[in-house]
Amino acid sequence: MHEYKVVVLGSGGIGKSALTVQFVQGVFVEKYDPMIDDPYRKQVEVDCQQGMLKILDTAGTEQFMVIRDLYMKNAQGFAVSYSITAQEQILLVRDTEDVPMIFVGNKCDLEDERVVGKEQCQNLARRWCNCAILGSSAKSKINVNEIFYDLIRQINRK
Ligand code: GDP
Ligand code: MG
Repeated sequence: MHEYKVVVLGSGGIGKSALTVQFVQGVFVEKYDPMIDDPYRKQVEVDCQQGMLKILDTAGTEQFMVIRDLYMKNAQGFAVSYSITAQEQILLVRDTEDVPMIFVGNKCDLEDERVVGKEQCQNLARRWCNCAILGSSAKSKINVNEIFYDLIRQINRK
């Protein structure tokens, strides 16, 4: 069976764990231990192709987008997440031209509390990697599967 390895990145409190757990287990976790890097596995079927998806949910112990070497070497794709309700310092320490990647603006159920402009994020996504950008909500189960399916499709196209 084909194996896909992806990493969920972003600083603490964005909802990386909530998105991962929602995708893998189908539940919204209100509170989650933020101190651990957790690996998850889920069998997926995308475009009639079966695969095993391995997701690394990174802990918020490092600055946004300061990516550990190991993750970078082993992963095939990245979900770069931010919260629409908090400004982040977005830095990237790598040439991302050719890496499967998706930009995820989580907590879109809190549209009223949005502080990060849509256009601002679209510009960033375009400049970085020409990658897709998706508004998501782990809480309301919006675009959660789409994040990971889009990554798998990008990996398949490589
Ligand atoms: P992480 O540090 O990036 O892993 O973030 P967590 O998954 O621990 O989530 C941080 C906080 O945001 C928790 O209190 C979650 O309940 C909350 N949260 C996560 N995703 C969402 C979402 O889509 N909508 C809302 N309203 N809250 C969320
Ligand atoms: Mg977490």
